[in-house]
Amino acid sequence: MTRPVIQTIPALPFGMLNAFLLRAGNGAILIDTGLPNALGKIKTALAGLGLGFPDLRLIIVTHGHIDHAGSAKAMSEASGAPVLLHEGDLPYYQGAAPVLRPSGLFGRLFEMTGAIERPFDPFEPDILLSGTGSFGLAQFGAAGQVLPTPGHTPGSVSVLLENGDVFAGDLAASGILLGGIAFKGRPKRPPFEEDPKAAAASLTDLLDRGGKRFFLGHGGPLGRDAIRRHVAHLERLSRPARP
Ligand SMILES: [Zn+2]
Ligand SMILES: [Zn+2]
Repeated sequence: MTRPVIQTIPALPFGMLNAFLLRAGNGAILIDTGLPNALGKIKTALAGLGLGFPDLRLIIVTHGHIDHAGSAKAMSEASGAPVLLHEGDLPYYQGAAPVLRPSGLFGRLFEMTGAIERPFDPFEPDILLSGTGSFGLAQFGAAGQVLPTPGHTPGSVSVLLENGDVFAGDLAASGILLGGIAFKGRPKRPPFEEDPKAAAASLTDLLDRGGKRFFLGHGGPLGRDAIRRHVAHLERLSRPARP
């Protein structure tokens, strides 16, 4: 198998917010769409692969936060590509405000800005995953699958390629502030996380399935050891305090 070509789309500087283009057959798959008005950045990234909007075969949105789903509607209109997402986050895609459980001080400060609660253009999916069902990407030219990986949000999904590359959205993050900038190899929780125990189980599942290199929405990529350390940290958090 030829190694998949991955183009990182820097939606914010320093790896603070990433989207990804995956070369698939003679086209590409877009994983996350950045904030609203990100079309120019996605166009530039496509051009880097010698492609344009019509070459986009599929748009996968990892979860229903504005920094990942913000340009999904505009992208599907510009490219005609179908949008895939999981029903667990359907209310968020339809305009409901996300549930925000800050994971620390930065999340609480960030919440006060209201930035993540800003609405984005609502949209309906073309391909809707439900429950624990996975979705194979062979029909779109990629050797891999989309897996439900709840935790950060109930409807978070990850893309796992056969070579072990994983696109895990906000299941983990790395770096400082939103991510990136410095200490990129150091895993941490994203600013918001609905269910850390479920996030730990989802990351363990991805490791068990052979995930090797974890590309993240904020910071990253991280290797298996860093992800294992993060799982242990999340499991310690979710353990009930001793009486
Ligand atoms: Zn998120
Ligand atoms: Zn995010």
